[in-house]
Amino acid sequence: MSALDIPVARQLIDGAWVPARDQGELPVLDPANSKVIQQIARGGQADVDAAVAAARRAFPGWAATSPSERGALLGRWAALVLERVEDLARYEARDVGKPLSGGRLNAYIAQGIIAYFAGAADKLTGVTLPTRSPDYLGFTIPEPFGVCAVTLPWNVPTLLSAANVAPALAAGNTVVLKPSEVAPLGPLALAELAREAGIPPGVFNVVTGLGAEAGVALTSHPGIDHISFVGSTATGRAVMRAAADNLVPVKLELGGKSPNVVFADADLDVAIPAIVGSITENAGQNCYAGSRLLVEESIRAEVTERVVAGMQAVRLGTWDQDLDMGPLVSREQRERVLGFLEGAPGEGARVVAGGAEAEVPDEGWFVAPTVLDGVDRGMRVVREEIFGPVLAIQGFSGTAQAVELMNDTDFGLLACIWTDDVSRALHAAKQVRSGQVAVNQFHDAGVIGFPFNMQKDSGFSAGGGYAALREYTQEKAVAVRLLAR
Ligand code: NAD
Repeated sequence: MSALDIPVARQLIDGAWVPARDQGELPVLDPANSKVIQQIARGGQADVDAAVAAARRAFPGWAATSPSERGALLGRWAALVLERVEDLARYEARDVGKPLSGGRLNAYIAQGIIAYFAGAADKLTGVTLPTRSPDYLGFTIPEPFGVCAVTLPWNVPTLLSAANVAPALAAGNTVVLKPSEVAPLGPLALAELAREAGIPPGVFNVVTGLGAEAGVALTSHPGIDHISFVGSTATGRAVMRAAADNLVPVKLELGGKSPNVVFADADLDVAIPAIVGSITENAGQNCYAGSRLLVEESIRAEVTERVVAGMQAVRLGTWDQDLDMGPLVSREQRERVLGFLEGAPGEGARVVAGGAEAEVPDEGWFVAPTVLDGVDRGMRVVREEIFGPVLAIQGFSGTAQAVELMNDTDFGLLACIWTDDVSRALHAAKQVRSGQVAVNQFHDAGVIGFPFNMQKDSGFSAGGGYAALREYTQEKAVAVRLLAR
């Protein structure tokens, strides 16, 4: 089998790989050595106009296909993704800088998501409503919105493309996807496989380019009917303003500052590696990264010591060395993270592990796994999303204070509770203002179709499981009076 190639400096519009109309190309850099991996098209207004027009033309035909037919095409796409998992893993890993096994896991998850929505496409139903007398009938019909704009970040691009494009297509929408200019290769590879699977021209389009150009052009385009945005909270606000101007629904999946909360009765042999993994996986560049560690005071010294040892044992390397953690995605991202680290001691934080660039050969954008102690809620490192391998530790006494600290953040994405006491875990789970809660695990391992919900400044979304299919549909309500015959 030949390698899965992504056409250089091309974007997928109306089923064809085409160059940018006006603005040329942009380089995609390897985070491990700052070298150019590939050129991409620098899409702008004219490219977005063309992609939206193609998606509009394709919409009536795609929406009119039977859900089973759409499911079958998505199923073919999922099968091709499975055949090409290694290619996708390499694109994802090299582009983002994550270890190859992390890229492979993302590719498998993307495949599972596409297969899930292939199966769900013909199971989307409305409801029949109760009526005041037998002479009436009331029901709802789930309908696609039309053209969905999907704008994505760089941290898990292959998986996020699948998670947004697959439900949108399954529900009968057409899509224009704008991946991040920093790591667009996984989404482009996934789009090529969708094309090979026979998803018709115009149904799934990809425009690459900068946020200020292609991103703004897409999210403010009068020809779109729905926006799905995944990215930072600041950009999410701008996208929501653009959505207001065109009065289109918007789904936002934004930043996080997720706590791991460790009670004195927790199984530390399970918790410690998970806590270290939660902030070093993808070099801490995950929206749900466990960046705050809240520990019951009676075990704080032991937990701190073990977490520091765990962080210091993390092996850094390039994507193809496939160790535990890679570099940050870009020079800009590394400068941002180092900025937080430089400012932390001045605010009173103590660096107990890492705290600076990592000593790794080559010109990669590595930062050492870092642990900060002596922090409090007033500090930037506790309040703001750092998006790097930086863990801030705070102590608490009792469930009430644990919940207070968990909620002491603008974000509300994920909260992880570590305890042997099920009542305590469920009290905390009910009181935390967070879209997702995990108990004695980090994240949702073991649950299929876990809704990727968010609250507060983390956004609002129900992506992840069957609910995502509903997010890409609007319900039409029908009331019928049955006349006497
Ligand atoms: P970002 O907000 O800078 O960019 C996201 C996307 O929006 C990119 O494609 C970018 O080109 C585009 N963009 C930038 N400015 C725009 C504008 N004014 N209008 C329209 N589009 C614009 O985010 P990032 O740095 O790429 O990604 C990191 C962020 O993503 C973090 O905050 C992280 O928490 C978040 N994230 C959230 C989730 C989630 O599910 N909640 C998942 C992954 C990442």
